[in-house]
Amino acid sequence: MTSPAPRDPTSDIAAAVPDGVQALMARLWSHGHAAYVVGGSIRDTILGRPAADWDLATDARPDRLLSIFPGAVYENQFGTVAVREAAPGAPVNEITTFRTDHEYADFRRPHRVEFGDDVRLDLARRDFTVNAMAWGADALPDRHPPLDAAPPAPGLVDPFGGLGDCGAGLLRAVGDPDVRFREDALRMVRAVRLATVLGFAIEAATLEAIRRNAGLAGHLSGERVAAELDKLLAAERPSTGLALLASTGLLDVLLPELAEQRGVPQNKIPGDDLWAHTLRTVDAAPASRPVVRLAALLHDVGKPATIEDGPFRGHEVVGAEQAAVVLARLRLPKAVAERVVHLVRQHMFTYEASWSDAAVRRFIQRVGIAALPDLLALREADNAGSGTAPDEHGLPELRRRVKAELDASVVFDRRGLAVHGDDLMAELGIPAGPTLGRVLDELLERVIADPSLNDRPTLLLLAESLVSEDE
Ligand code: ATP
Ligand code: MG
Repeated sequence: MTSPAPRDPTSDIAAAVPDGVQALMARLWSHGHAAYVVGGSIRDTILGRPAADWDLATDARPDRLLSIFPGAVYENQFGTVAVREAAPGAPVNEITTFRTDHEYADFRRPHRVEFGDDVRLDLARRDFTVNAMAWGADALPDRHPPLDAAPPAPGLVDPFGGLGDCGAGLLRAVGDPDVRFREDALRMVRAVRLATVLGFAIEAATLEAIRRNAGLAGHLSGERVAAELDKLLAAERPSTGLALLASTGLLDVLLPELAEQRGVPQNKIPGDDLWAHTLRTVDAAPASRPVVRLAALLHDVGKPATIEDGPFRGHEVVGAEQAAVVLARLRLPKAVAERVVHLVRQHMFTYEASWSDAAVRRFIQRVGIAALPDLLALREADNAGSGTAPDEHGLPELRRRVKAELDASVVFDRRGLAVHGDDLMAELGIPAGPTLGRVLDELLERVIADPSLNDRPTLLLLAESLVSEDE
């Protein structure tokens, strides 16, 4: 049985490509060059998804692009030029000269690129059939067309059956998958990411090749892996992709700390191991909070190492250290890594209705006001991943009490104290140094326990007695 011929998407694409982008194409044609929209945006338009960016490809060489588009700038050494559309505030588009890649010696990046004149050769270097389609036209046959010449009629160029694979929901490597993954191991991770985000299956031979070549992913830079992981975690159900990483062997290479969770028993959901719990927790974390998704992925990373300790005692401490190692390897921005590590470290709080208001304030101080929404979202996801209702363990009540304390604008850090370090130095002659820090910490603790102490005379008196105790 043959599947029905896919509907011709040309008019849908023509309608979807923004006017500004079509104007850039018209300008290339009028200068005697080929102009095509290539890659992900064609795929997304065919699938009825919003396109992220409209990448253009042409036979014009980069220096020629700079003269056709005044104000254009070089983006990288591979012949990509950034061009802004004519309208004010319009988005910047990338125009890349057709190219072929050569000599992939280290499983990562082409060592040499060669510019080309044929869109089909440019499509052949792309990773998957659904990413290897173009919409546009070559230059008019006349090398110097009159200015009023009609533009060529754009059409779809699909040499590898990308349209059919879009219809079938299949991610298939362009050419021999073993060769393509050996050229650039990132393509294996991209296959998993794209399959997850698009809801596609990976075609059988492509999947087999990932299994065979997964070890090569060890050559990849942290940044490139992180960019894919980030997009994978933003999918509706990241668990699909995480499970694929595990079943293909990529997880063992990229995130061995998490691969160890497989087979570690959990008495949460019958039949679930620790890895299954992690996957459920990630899915339950809000897609709109990437930091929480990442924290959900790593929240129990310390459990395999602490299985003998009581069991899992202190896994949040060990886990925070391991998370920091993983995130440094992925070269995540420091500020993001710190937020994730902090969430992993703090995720084991146990709220009881018997907590005093001071205990609620100490909780707020320990977690930090900025991290509270993330931590509560992580706990909801962790609850859901454990098979309980997201708001189990008194979470709604804790939320209410935290809000009440925050609304009362009590003090949670040194900045809120009625005296500061320089006051203590001036009024009490305490020198800058460790004693000053200890006194301020102690004052903060007392004010958190009893906010009515937060006035200048009271705190100066308290500080004085603390200093004399210290001596
Ligand atoms: P997204 O929707 O996330 O942007 P994308 O497929 O457009 O997905 P990009 O990283 O923007 O991904 O890449 C643009 C295009 O460049 C791809 O569609 C593909 O044709 C090509 N491409 C990207 N990375 C590779 C690679 N590692 N090997 C071969 N071709 C690639
Ligand atoms: Mg893209």
